[in-house]
Amino acid sequence: MDHTRLTHFLLDGRWVRDEIRKECLPRVERMVAQAGRPPCLVVILAGSDPASEIYVRGKVKACQELGIASEKLTPPASVTTAELLAEIDTLNRREDVDGILAQLPLPRQVDTRAVLAAILPEKDVDGLHPVNVGNLVANRAGLRPCTPSGIMELLRRYEIPVAGRRAVVVGRSDIVGKPMALLLLHQHATVTICHSRTADLAQECARADILVAAIGRPAFIRREFIKPGATVIDVGMNRLSDRAQVISLLAGAPEKLALFEKNGSVLVGDVHPTEVAEIAGGYTPVPGGVGLLTIAMLMVNTIDAAQRRLGLCSA
Ligand code: NDP
Repeated sequence: MDHTRLTHFLLDGRWVRDEIRKECLPRVERMVAQAGRPPCLVVILAGSDPASEIYVRGKVKACQELGIASEKLTPPASVTTAELLAEIDTLNRREDVDGILAQLPLPRQVDTRAVLAAILPEKDVDGLHPVNVGNLVANRAGLRPCTPSGIMELLRRYEIPVAGRRAVVVGRSDIVGKPMALLLLHQHATVTICHSRTADLAQECARADILVAAIGRPAFIRREFIKPGATVIDVGMNRLSDRAQVISLLAGAPEKLALFEKNGSVLVGDVHPTEVAEIAGGYTPVPGGVGLLTIAMLMVNTIDAAQRRLGLCSA
């Protein structure tokens, strides 16, 4: 790897994303040669949540760039659980569909757990089906949630040691915090999971060699949460448009303030952008960090699912 990156402290999600994509391209081509078709991902976008629409657009675009077939289903916001289950049943039966993703959050009236559990585990490219959750807990092969597996790829490709190190994950969601902690545990880190009821969060975090913030609170992780030289992974994606909030949180971050002045809003992670740069050994920026890896790993999961379903070799 290019060690000059380490001297800048920035763990560049774009570089990792590009490396992953380079590996995906020949796998897609091989599948076309062997099976006569590319892998196929179907994304279900129910309703019109603006953030979800942006995420889904990014997923469809990533498929196009790699030659992966994709379909977008857009049931209305009034869709019922029964209607979504019927849709998923059809997709489960379709031979040409390898991956099914229900973009979260689903509309309020929908039973999200029932929908996620209805997706065939071998087509569950978000890794949220109970069978895949069980496989993750037991460290058996299976589809893993994309954001935490992308973070593991970043740590691996930057040769950041995990075994024997103290890792602290802030956040215990099913989609990020819990699977992140399990993946780090399987790589032999000593893992602590923190959440909103953790007593003395700063002290817990300051013991971490690897600190993962998946909280959903802008610039929440400050200087005193970070052990000097630690690796800090910022999962948070918080868009701020309130001037008073931006100024109070980001007074010491002139680049973010300038972006806010230009665009009227600014994207901020869960980690304070300038304080982390002063104290961490390496850190992921927002944007340009973890977010890019999530979509890249969705592509990997879709290709993996297709190869496994069709019994093709994964090399
Ligand atoms: P959730 O809201 O599901 O979970 C947030 C977690 O943070 C909860 O476990 C909560 O604790 C904990 N938390 C909240 N406030 C505090 C606090 N003051 N102190 C300690 N812990 C706290 O969020 P997600 O896991 O879905 O997402 C987290 C962030 O990551 C969001 O900003 C989201 O946008 C972003 N994200 C980014 C992705 C990417 O690709 N970059 C992908 C997915 C998410 P408790 O359980 O006690 O309530």
